[in-house]
Amino acid sequence: MRILVQKFGGTSVANLECMLKVREKVLAALDKGYKVVVVLSAMSGETNRLIDMAKKWSSKPDPAEMDVLLATGEQTSVALFSMLLKDKGVKTRSLLGYQIPIQTDKSFGKARILDIDAEKLKHMLTRFDVLVAAGFQGCDCEQRITTLGRGGSDTSAVALAAALNAELCEIYTDVDGVYTTDPNICSKARKIHKIAYDEMLEMASMGAKVLQIRSVEFAKKYNVPVHVRSTFSDEPGTLVVQEDETMEAAMVSGIAYDKDQARITLVDVYDEPGIAATVFEPLAAANIVVDMIVQNPSREGRTDMTFTVPKGSLEETLDIIEKIKDQIGARGVLSDPNVAKVSVIGVGMRNHSGVAAIAFSALKNENINIMIISTSEIKISCLIEEKYTELAVRTLHEAFGLDQA
Ligand code: ADP
Ligand code: ASP
Ligand code: MG
Repeated sequence: MRILVQKFGGTSVANLECMLKVREKVLAALDKGYKVVVVLSAMSGETNRLIDMAKKWSSKPDPAEMDVLLATGEQTSVALFSMLLKDKGVKTRSLLGYQIPIQTDKSFGKARILDIDAEKLKHMLTRFDVLVAAGFQGCDCEQRITTLGRGGSDTSAVALAAALNAELCEIYTDVDGVYTTDPNICSKARKIHKIAYDEMLEMASMGAKVLQIRSVEFAKKYNVPVHVRSTFSDEPGTLVVQEDETMEAAMVSGIAYDKDQARITLVDVYDEPGIAATVFEPLAAANIVVDMIVQNPSREGRTDMTFTVPKGSLEETLDIIEKIKDQIGARGVLSDPNVAKVSVIGVGMRNHSGVAAIAFSALKNENINIMIISTSEIKISCLIEEKYTELAVRTLHEAFGLDQA
């Protein structure tokens, strides 16, 4: 049985007209002899609408009920799309996360997939030609609905492709591939025809939301070839695959940005063993993802500690810090939600020196102040004021010669 997984994002299922385009893609795959697992997102704007609604109903929406609510977005999409397919005589049915089942842990809002019943799905594919699965959702061991975090339908699709041993996982979206940076903010961005899992992982981790990070982790772990392409054209897109010798080893392959950052500074905490653990252990226990961290001794026996968390976690982080403030001797706590991280990414960076200097001088030329710098073997990230994000991205894109001719 040749199985193809096709995932369509929010803008691809935004209305009837878009869904008709999606149907063409699915029918074309059937014509090629595939059994197709279609994974759908909620219609564009719907997940945000539901989140806003929950915030009106409750000052602190219950995480489990939040997932029950958010999962309705994808439920609507799969029901409507299955109807469209049936109108064309296709043997199909919709499947919600718990019906597959996609088993996850209990981390509501950011659940991790533990298991997928592939045998049951394969058996279903002997009776149906297309299965229309709701992305973004699963269920825990107590049958409670969970969701996989924003952009999670990508992960549902790649995980299903891995479990089913599918030939390919196609990710259809509103751009026709992965670009050197977000084409919606930099008109000179270039399409990358083939990208290695590691590089894509770094781009996604640094904020390129075209693929959710976990989907790339799955793809890499199970060696699932992923093709990112447009629902609205037939152009080939970007293949995300294992690194091979035909890939250009560019020093810098892309620029990413992440506006979902908030900065916290603990002023003048004790400079002694255990302080960092006292700060970060309760944050980890609360499932708060800390990103950049810097600490440098300021005065005798004292140090400032600065770190970033997702904007949505700022309030909870401040609540936790309030409880340990005296224990760590902090003389003040500063916070700023108006920050963003811009990153320069490239596996070729391993063998080049001076990459950071090029980035810093490009930002200097635009008078953009850098608050925090963090580096790894294949990336350099700078935290800057959020309002300069687009300018910084375009400037860095040009400075590293990524602009298209
Ligand atoms: P979907 O709803 O289909 O999942 P998303 O909005 O999650 O789509 O992801 C597609 C968007 O990702 C594009 O519209 C684009 O603005 C953004 N994006 C960010 N970085 C990149 C990049 N390097 N290449 C392509 N798209 C990018
Ligand atoms: N609907 C979810 C979101 O908006 C999941 C997804 O689209 O991938 O984040
Ligand atoms: Mg997405």
